Amino acid sequence: MPTRPARGRRTPAPAPLQPAVQLLPRTQVPCSLCGLCCTYVTADIHPPTSVPRASRILWYLYHDGVSVWWDRAATWLVQFETRCRFFGDDRRCEIYARRPHVCRDFDPGECEVNAPDEGLLFHAPAQFLDWLARRRPRLHARLLASGQAPDAALLRAPPAPRKPLPPYLQRFTALRALGTDKVGD
Ligand code: SF4
Ligand code: SF4
Repeated sequence: MPTRPARGRRTPAPAPLQPAVQLLPRTQVPCSLCGLCCTYVTADIHPPTSVPRASRILWYLYHDGVSVWWDRAATWLVQFETRCRFFGDDRRCEIYARRPHVCRDFDPGECEVNAPDEGLLFHAPAQFLDWLARRRPRLHARLLASGQAPDAALLRAPPAPRKPLPPYLQRFTALRALGTDKVGD
């Protein structure tokens, strides 16, 4: 039989409801579950401090699988999405003992997956142009005035579907074979 609480005693407060999904504190992702850094290459590039440099960054971003990363300080990189031939399906390096120094120097505590500050990654030309308009408005205006940026509507439209191309080397070799010997060669 239910009993009434004794007069003058407080009913204990109900326990707080548990959230449906508990957010866990962020921990370091182990390389064995990741392998992200084995699926691209990067190269340093000039920061966008002039019209030619800004239009070059736009040009990088016109290409599939190419992105541009800025560390929010002095470093700008162009990043090409491409899988290392030694990155196995089990996410392990098949030449681990003989991997290059660039792989040895990569610090899993400071990589893009685990670093506290990821910088800024531009995937599409419109993202970069928007950033330029906000952060470098005079350069943005000069770039537009130079005629080296397409219309905003075209830039924001999804890329048109294209037929796949044969590999570059195959096209290059076929095109070279089309040429006749140059006079004097
Ligand atoms: S270093 Fe970072 S990005 Fe590379 S595999 Fe390890 S966790 Fe992933
Ligand atoms: S050599 Fe090994 S560690 Fe380096 S990118 Fe290739 S798979 Fe990754």
